[in-house]
Amino acid sequence: MQDCAARAVVILGRPTARVHKAGVIKAGVIKDCHHRPAPPECAPTPPLKASHEDLIMRLWIKDPIAALAAGAERGLVIENGRIAELVGSGGAPRAAVDQIFDAGRHVILPGLINTHHHFYQTLTRAFPAALDKPLFPWLKALYPVWSRLDGEALSAAVTVAMAELALSGCTTVVDHHYVFPAGLQNAIDIEIEAAGQLGLRALFTRGSMNLSVKDGGLPPDCVVQDADTILADSERLIRRYHQPDGTETGSGGPMVQIALAPCSPFSVTRELMRDSALLAERQGVRLHTHLAETEDENDFCAERFGCRPLDYLEDCGWLSDRVWLAHGIHFTDDEIARLGRAGTGICHCPSSNQVLASGICPAPALEAAGAPVGLGVDGSASADCSNLMQEVRAAFLLQRLRHGAEAIGHRDALRYATRGSARCIGRDDLGELAPGRAADLAMFTLDELRFAGHGDPLAALVLCGAHRADRVMVGGRWIVEDGVLPGLNLPALLDRQRRSAERLAME
Ligand code: ZN
Repeated sequence: MQDCAARAVVILGRPTARVHKAGVIKAGVIKDCHHRPAPPECAPTPPLKASHEDLIMRLWIKDPIAALAAGAERGLVIENGRIAELVGSGGAPRAAVDQIFDAGRHVILPGLINTHHHFYQTLTRAFPAALDKPLFPWLKALYPVWSRLDGEALSAAVTVAMAELALSGCTTVVDHHYVFPAGLQNAIDIEIEAAGQLGLRALFTRGSMNLSVKDGGLPPDCVVQDADTILADSERLIRRYHQPDGTETGSGGPMVQIALAPCSPFSVTRELMRDSALLAERQGVRLHTHLAETEDENDFCAERFGCRPLDYLEDCGWLSDRVWLAHGIHFTDDEIARLGRAGTGICHCPSSNQVLASGICPAPALEAAGAPVGLGVDGSASADCSNLMQEVRAAFLLQRLRHGAEAIGHRDALRYATRGSARCIGRDDLGELAPGRAADLAMFTLDELRFAGHGDPLAALVLCGAHRADRVMVGGRWIVEDGVLPGLNLPALLDRQRRSAERLAME
C-alpha cells in the first residue's frame, strides 16, 4: 500500500536532506505521507525542469534561507499559478505536493514590479549628445534620435529592457511608450509580443505627445501625433489586449494590461489630458504620466497654465486613485496631503533623478499621507540601466540620505518595489508572498563574494548590492533558471541591439 501511495516528486535545486516532513526521499522519490489518491501505477518521473509549457501543479519551494514574509520559514507552496500556502517553522504543506524545489541557497522576495520605464531608450544609453544635461536640454538632444525609431530597433530594445529587468528579479514590467514615428503605429503590439515570449507579466501604457514646439511644447513636430489618432489607437489597444482586473489566466491574474499615458504637461495638450482621463474611466483602465520632475516643469506650468503641475493635473480630472505618476519630486506639503487623500500613486525613480539632478521624491511623507509609493528604473537614456534590484538599493541610499538612517531601512526600499508598486498599478494580487497572490517570485543566492560574511540575508540583498536573480517565477512558471533566460539567444539579441543603436545614432 505504501508503495502504491508513493508519487514521483522531482527535487530541484541542490541535493536535499534524505528525510523531511513530507516523506522519505529515496532515489528522487518521496513516499508520500499524505496519502493523496494514487494513480493506477506509479507515475513516471516528470522532466527535471519546468518549461514555459509545463506548469507545475503543486510545488513546494522548500526551506529558503529567508523570505520576505512572516510564517514562511519552511517556504511556500505554488498551485495553479498562485501561492497556495506559506509553510511556517516546523511545518509541512497541508496536502501532498507534486514537486519540491530545494531553496536552501535562496532568499525569496515577491517578484519585483517596475512601474516606470521607456524600453526604447535602451538604444540611447550613455548617449554622447545627452550627457551632463538636465531634463529639458537632455530631451531636446534625444528627440531627433528617437524620431528615427523603427520596428526592428524597437523589437530589439524592448527585449533587451525586459530581459535585463527579468534577470534582476522583476516579474511585472510597465512600459511608457510615447514615440510613434511614421511607420511605427504598431509599437505597443510589438512590445506585447516580446513580453509574451519572455513570459513576463506586463502593463503597457499607450503614451502620447501632441504638443510640439510650434504650439508651445517641448518636442519637435516629427515625434508628435494628433489627438484623434492617439485616442483611436488607445481604444484599439484596450479592446484588443487589456485583461480586466480579476481575469483568471492560469498564471494568476491578468498577464497583459493597457493604461493610457499622455507624456507630460510640456508635450501634451490640456484637451488630450482630459479626453484620456474620460476614455480611461469609460474603459476601466489606469492613467499614468510624468509629473513634478523638475523646477523647469513648474516654471512651464506657471507660464502656460498659470498654476502648479498638480493643480493642472486636478483640473484635467487626474487627481484620483486610477492614476500613478512618475517621479513626484517637487510637491508642497499641501500637495502631498491632496495626493494622499486621492490615493494617487507615485513611482520613485532614484537613479534617473540622480543622473538628471532632478531632486528627491518625498517618499516617506507621501506614504504617510496615504499615497502608494512604487519604484521604477525609468528610461535607459536617463538611468542607463534597467536593473530593478539595483534600483531598490538606489532608493534605499537616496531616501536614507534625505530622511536619516533611522527613518529608512532595507524593508522600506523592498516595499516600494513590491507592495508599493503593486498598489500604484492597482494590482492587489501582486507584490506579496501570501496565499492567493500570484506565484511571482524573485529568488537570489548569497554565494557571491559581495555577500560573504553577511548577518541578515534580507538586509544583505539591499546593502551588499544584489543585482542578479538566480531564479524568477511568473504565475507559477520559471522564466529565469540558474541566472539565465532559457531560450533567449543573448548574443543574437545584443547584435541586433548594437546594429539598431548605430542606425539610430546616424544623422
Ligand atoms: Zn520617464
